[in-house]
Amino acid sequence: MDSCLFCKIVRGEIPSRKVYEDDEIFVFHDINPARPVHLLVIPKKHITSLATSTEADVPVLGRMLVVANRLATEQGSPDGFRVIINTGRVGHQEVQHLHAHIVGGPDPVGPMLKQI
Ligand code: 5GP
Ligand code: ZN
Repeated sequence: MDSCLFCKIVRGEIPSRKVYEDDEIFVFHDINPARPVHLLVIPKKHITSLATSTEADVPVLGRMLVVANRLATEQGSPDGFRVIINTGRVGHQEVQHLHAHIVGGPDPVGPMLKQI
């Protein structure tokens, strides 16, 4: 995907604070962190959204979560963290390349969602 922001980050065309990469996934610091630890875990392959993922994506999705756990611990959130995958319009997904937010830090991140 030539014009995709996160594909450009994977290719190094846009700089990022990289934390980890392997053949399938890329992890970097969110540019606008919501908590002391705020990582974005993405597949290197362009997948637009969790809503467009398929059975073929099961291995990379699984690896994203396992790596997320290790990196959250290493990056300063050893007592737990939250994984958020905003999806589509209702999920308020702003960047159209699947990404998992890993948020945490020394203090609890707070309740999941406010009641409406
Ligand atoms: P979404 O709302 O799509 O789930 O989250 C997109 C996230 O990407 C936001 O938290 C935003 O701060 C982050 N982001 C947007 N542009 C960039 C960028 O150029 N570099 C980095 N590192 N993060 C970005
Ligand atoms: Zn992309």
